[in-house]
Amino acid sequence: VFCSPLPPIDIPQDARNIAGFFFDRMHQLPEFTRSDSPRPLYIAGSPSAESLTLAQFEELVRSLASGLYHKAGVRPNDTVAVVLPNTIHYPAIMLAVLLAGATCTPANPAYTARELAHQLHDAGARTVITSQALLPLVKDALALCDSADATVLLDDRDHPQSMFGILCDRPLPAECSDAPADAPALVPYSSGTTGLPKGVVLSHRNIIANALQVLAVQQPGQPSMPRTAIAVLPMFHSFGLLFLCVLMPISRTTTVVMPKFDLHGFLRLVDTYRVTDAMLVPPIINALAKTPGIAERYNLASLAEVIVGAAPLSASTIEAVESRLPHLLVLQGFGLTEASPAVSLNPPAGRRPLSVGRLLPSIDAIVLDALGRRLGPNETGELCFRGPNIMLGYLNNADETARCIDSDGFFHTGDIGYIDDDCFIYITDRKKELIKYNGFQVAPAELEGILMQHENVKDCAVVGVFDEERQTEVPRAFLVLAGADDADAAASEVVRWLDAQVAYYKRLRGGYRLVDAVPKSASGKLLRRMLKEMD
Ligand code: AMP
Repeated sequence: VFCSPLPPIDIPQDARNIAGFFFDRMHQLPEFTRSDSPRPLYIAGSPSAESLTLAQFEELVRSLASGLYHKAGVRPNDTVAVVLPNTIHYPAIMLAVLLAGATCTPANPAYTARELAHQLHDAGARTVITSQALLPLVKDALALCDSADATVLLDDRDHPQSMFGILCDRPLPAECSDAPADAPALVPYSSGTTGLPKGVVLSHRNIIANALQVLAVQQPGQPSMPRTAIAVLPMFHSFGLLFLCVLMPISRTTTVVMPKFDLHGFLRLVDTYRVTDAMLVPPIINALAKTPGIAERYNLASLAEVIVGAAPLSASTIEAVESRLPHLLVLQGFGLTEASPAVSLNPPAGRRPLSVGRLLPSIDAIVLDALGRRLGPNETGELCFRGPNIMLGYLNNADETARCIDSDGFFHTGDIGYIDDDCFIYITDRKKELIKYNGFQVAPAELEGILMQHENVKDCAVVGVFDEERQTEVPRAFLVLAGADDADAAASEVVRWLDAQVAYYKRLRGGYRLVDAVPKSASGKLLRRMLKEMD
């Protein structure tokens, strides 16, 4: 067993709810609490530049939590879905749901109605917080899962269904804060190692632990100077949820919130707000390294540290971006939704560019060979982790939970790699089905399930192939057609038909290949590896 060499974290005994933990920490930070011109917690990276101070943020969290309970009828253990792009209100909405004792399931606002309906139904969400722009999508999704009577609240002030209309100052009853630290808090969705997206049940303690684990590496000793970060990652994804909604504020950081990423908008905001920190995915680092003229057009000298995760990043790309922006330190991290999400991070002093970082404190790891035998340092196999940040399990899916968390409490990631003598982790491959497009999850089983519904498709398989130009994996379909005169026309129609039914990042950007048969093992299991290696 590899045990993190860092001292274990100390989770405060009284930290039961993420919201309580959050405000306890925030009240100790003078730059946010002072009465004259406090630093804002969040600034909208839009022309409005609307901002939220801690006092305004806390007022919103408390009055929305109260309104959810007293006016919207949300009860402890209910599930509230949040379907929003990044906004400065997003973190407050999430904390309000948690403060009311409910569970929050964050959904991708790019979903189609069918995809959203799956999550709303599976998570049992009877209340949805969304925006006016997304209201038609949410209504369609609720209709698809027979929940048309669900309560829908909007993050828009002047609308009859505005969440601002339910703000209330009545105290919350004790039942809202009764739940123990290991009660469910957040249920983001992940396909895990196989199959369709599943609810990942993360407890209050999971999130608090992971925040403290990352802080221990980011800020050993004294808290740093106040900093400014930019929110590019989506807040509905576990990486954004933890870093942007919890970690940035408690690490004394003001966050500029971008609703939708575009490179020049991002660079403009870095320049305008003298942004020091960012959490990014590899294709953005690649764009920073390669797009001509950016260092001349924008003043990016403030950008000191970037944490990158969610997909592989090569050492040469890190080198390229750092030679262009010499004051910038790129730190790779690794994690997954099921781990709340951070598992490893490179320390600012003593990083190893080829590594995705050192095991965070209080995490143990084992590496297993194909036969399930434990391997030693520098030996490659499946990475498995145990710690206070590992999920409670998959929602309503005991079988899948039992399949991936073993009797010793180790979560089997489906990622292949090795761990060196100093507990630095190196990812070399992925054995699970998952495809990652720009850091977003694409579950092959989901696309295959849809493709099989098309009359032209007799059999199919979807795998991820690496697109050098875009520096990301893209999904590619292998199709066995049910006899058509013009096979390519038939296949193109299938691809167009599929693309219209899925969120933009699941589209078959890797195209299709026509095959006579999809390779399968004697037991009928798809041999994806063989397809990945085909051109
Ligand atoms: P998600 O649950 O969406 O965060 O996806 C987690 C998966 O993303 C992991 O199991 C890995 O396959 C992949 N991943 C995350 N971080 C990295 C990284 N730094 N390098 C390579 N793959 C990564």
